[in-house]
Amino acid sequence: MQRSQRIRGLTGGGSDGWDVFLKARAMIADGIAVTELTIGEHDVRTAAPILQEMHRRAMAGHTGYAAVPGTSSLRDTVAARVQARTGVPTTRDNVVITPGGQAALFAAHMAACDPGDTALYIDPYYATYPGTLRGAGACPQVITAQAEDAFQPRAEALQAHAKAAASLLINTPNNPTGVVYSNATLRTIADVCREDDLWLISDEVYDTQVWEGQHVSPRALPGMAERTLVVGSMSKSHAMTGSRCGWIVGPEEVIADLITLATHTTYGVPGYIQDASVFALNLGEAFEADIAAPFRRRRAIARNVMARQNTLSLIPSQGAMYLMLDVRATGLTGEAFAYDLLEQHHIAVMPGESFGAAAAGHIRVAMTIEDDAFARALKTLCRHAEQLAA
Ligand code: PMP
Repeated sequence: MQRSQRIRGLTGGGSDGWDVFLKARAMIADGIAVTELTIGEHDVRTAAPILQEMHRRAMAGHTGYAAVPGTSSLRDTVAARVQARTGVPTTRDNVVITPGGQAALFAAHMAACDPGDTALYIDPYYATYPGTLRGAGACPQVITAQAEDAFQPRAEALQAHAKAAASLLINTPNNPTGVVYSNATLRTIADVCREDDLWLISDEVYDTQVWEGQHVSPRALPGMAERTLVVGSMSKSHAMTGSRCGWIVGPEEVIADLITLATHTTYGVPGYIQDASVFALNLGEAFEADIAAPFRRRRAIARNVMARQNTLSLIPSQGAMYLMLDVRATGLTGEAFAYDLLEQHHIAVMPGESFGAAAAGHIRVAMTIEDDAFARALKTLCRHAEQLAA
């Protein structure tokens, strides 16, 4: 049987960027001890009180079909949270609950783009982006942010493609770079979206992980609430990656459309997961700071380790759970470096190339293991780079 062009073409024909990660997982399955610094997952599990609430609500019977748009209680909680953080009036009618941020990214592009429309995204990018955009029927068009601009996209680069596009996807704090967009960058993005009548899809799943400066949601910028779809998630902020609970915040009419889409695709998110998410969100900012604290600490550890060597350079980051290292002085590509490190030292990192051409010659290190082991792995990684460069 012929499989659809769409499904076969989802990764654009090449690798989808997960090869090193899969090799590391295969080594682990073979009993090899691998230090895993690949995917963005906390080393702590979902907190016991959140799980207890999930269990309590499931035992109380909240196991049937939940309301497709999301429970009123979770939609209200998300709306209040967004309004408190951005000052933009937000009600439950501006919120649809989705099975995680990933499903929200897909749904947002379904709402913003017709089949064949150009959907812009910025390189370096989270590895699923181009496939998600293709899956939604759009034609992904990349905009390059340069390492020498600290990976903040330039106005000219955005303007070059904006006229012909339907949407622009941004992600700040950024995966993979850890960069938080400056106010100037966000103003430029907002100007381009207004001038060329683009939807802005703003992936803010790392909004509680900011180490320097401040997270600004572009939905709060003048004239942007009517054209911005904010993607949020419980995954990173509350260490609830496996619970698959996220949302889109946007104008009421498009949220109504997205609810129709949910009826015909996901049919909602389990009620007991949503109840546990309300409970988790009500734990407040101190809890979110606790979840973020290990990454803040490890970023400081990494800066110390990196200051003692001069083969690799650390991309200055302000947020998220990752570090980007420029490995070009070793003479290797990011991919070759990652494979070499995995084979020789059993340390797994993601090649920059998995996140686009702009991140070639870099690696992404997830700060997701315990502090001492993290410091040791980084030191080994630096020594390995020094030997390669020598
Ligand atoms: N956006 C970005 C930038 C991410 O890094 C991730 C997960 N790694 C997601 C969205 C999706 O997260 P989830 O589906 O778990 O909410």
